[in-house]
Amino acid sequence: MAGQATSKPHAEIAGAGYAGLVAAVALAQRGWSVRLHEKRATLGSFGAGIVLWENALRVMRAIGAFDEVARKSFTAPFYETRMHNQTVALEPFGRDPWATMTRQHLYDAILAPARRLDIEILHNSEVVSADPDGTVTLGSGRTIKADLVVGADGVGSNVRGSVGFAVERNKAQDGLIRLIVPRCRRELGPEAFWDNVIDFWNFEPRVQRILYVPANEDDLYLGLMAPFGSEGSIVPIKLEVWLDMFPFLEPVLREAAKVHGRYDRYETAVLNAWTKGRVAVVGDAAHAMTPSLAQGAACAMMNALSLAVYMEDGADKVEERLQEWERKERPLTDRTQQRSAKLTAERALSRGEWVNDELMETMRHIPTGASADPLPGFPRRKATVPEAAKA
Ligand SMILES: Cc1cc2nc3c(=O)[nH]c(=O)nc-3n(C[C@H](O)[C@H](O)[C@H](O)COP(=O)(O)OP(=O)(O)OC[C@H]3O[C@@H](n4cnc5c(N)ncnc54)[C@H](O)[C@@H]3O)c2cc1C
Repeated sequence: MAGQATSKPHAEIAGAGYAGLVAAVALAQRGWSVRLHEKRATLGSFGAGIVLWENALRVMRAIGAFDEVARKSFTAPFYETRMHNQTVALEPFGRDPWATMTRQHLYDAILAPARRLDIEILHNSEVVSADPDGTVTLGSGRTIKADLVVGADGVGSNVRGSVGFAVERNKAQDGLIRLIVPRCRRELGPEAFWDNVIDFWNFEPRVQRILYVPANEDDLYLGLMAPFGSEGSIVPIKLEVWLDMFPFLEPVLREAAKVHGRYDRYETAVLNAWTKGRVAVVGDAAHAMTPSLAQGAACAMMNALSLAVYMEDGADKVEERLQEWERKERPLTDRTQQRSAKLTAERALSRGEWVNDELMETMRHIPTGASADPLPGFPRRKATVPEAAKA
C-alpha cells in the first residue's frame, strides 16, 4: 500500500489503549506491518486499577503478556459483598481464574510485546477521520492508505464518527471515582478480610458504594461510586461525605482525599455496525459498557485479538473477513453489554447474586485466537472461609 516499503499487508490503528495495543500485537504476530497512532503525548492508561477475568488473561497469554501481568497482580481469596457493612455474599471463585492489578501495570505488560515486535507507535498523532477505502487522515493533514484501518480510539471515537456508524449512547445514573492508594494494612486494623475484594454498598442515608480492590501487595484500587451530580461525585473527594458512611475505611479514605481523581459516569455505546469497507472499530469505540461485569477491557482485548485472527490471510478479502468477524464475534459482546447495563441500572451487585452461569458466560469464554489450556499458576490460592465469617 501507499507509503509502505514492504510487501506485508499494512494496518493503521487509531488509539494506543488496550484495544489498539492488543490489535497491533496480534496483527504483527500474523505478519502484518502495523502503525499505531496515539493522540496523547505519552502512553499509558487512565483509571487506577482493573479486574481481569479468565478470558482477558487468556488474551494476555496469546499476545505474550501473561507472565508479566501475573508477576505484579493479585488474586483475592474472596469477592465479598457487604450491605451497610454486613456481609451478604462471600464468593471464592474457586473455578474462575481472575486477577487484579494497576492499569499502568497492565498497560506496560501489553506494551512490552509491542516493543519486542518493533511496532511503530506515533505520539501526538490524532486520527481525525477514516474512509472505508482504507485511508486515514491525521491531525497534521497527512493521509495514509492501508489495507486495514482499526478505530480503537475510545468512546468518543473519531473513526466511528467519520465513517458514519450510527451510535446509541446511554449514560447510567451512577459513576465512579477511581484512585490508587497505599494498602494501609496496619492502619486498617486486624480485620481478617483486608486481602478480599470488598464491595461495600450503602443505600442509606444515600447511595454510595466503595469497591475495595487490593491491586498487588502495596497498592489498593478504590472505586468510589455515587450517583451523577451527587456530593459523592465531587473530586477531590469530600472526606466527610465518605467517612460518615464508611468510618472503618478512614486510613485509605484519608489517602484518597490527597489524590485529585476524576469522576466517570458509566455509559453504554451500541453501534449499528462495527465494520464498513476496510475499517473496523473495536473496544470502547465499538462497544463501551458499564463496568458491573468488569468486561469492558476484556471484550475490547478479545475482539482485538479475534480481529487479527480473521486477518490471518493478509490483505485478501479484508472486507468480507471483517464482516465475518463482526457476525461471529459480536453477539457475545452484545449480550455482555446488555447484562452489564441491567446490573448497573438495578444496582444488583449490591445483592451479591451475580455469580451464575449466565452472567459468567463472557468471563469463561475461550477467546478466538487464545488457547483453552489451563492458565499456569491459577487458581492461585485456596480460599478458606475465615472462622469469623462462619460464625
Ligand atoms: C469505572 C470503570 C471501571 C472499569 N473497570 C473495568 C474492569 O475492571 N475490567 C475491564 O475489563 N474493564 C473495565 N472497564 C472498561 C475499560 O476501562 C474500557 O473498556 C477499556 O479501557 C477500553 O479500552 P479501549 O482501548 O477501547 O479505549 P481507551 O482505553 O479509551 O483507549 C483509547 C486510546 O485512544 C486514544 N485516542 C482517542 N482518540 C484518538 C484519536 N482520534 N487518534 C489517536 N488516538 C486517539 C486515547 O488517548 C486512548 O489512549 C471499566 C470502565 C469504567 C468506566
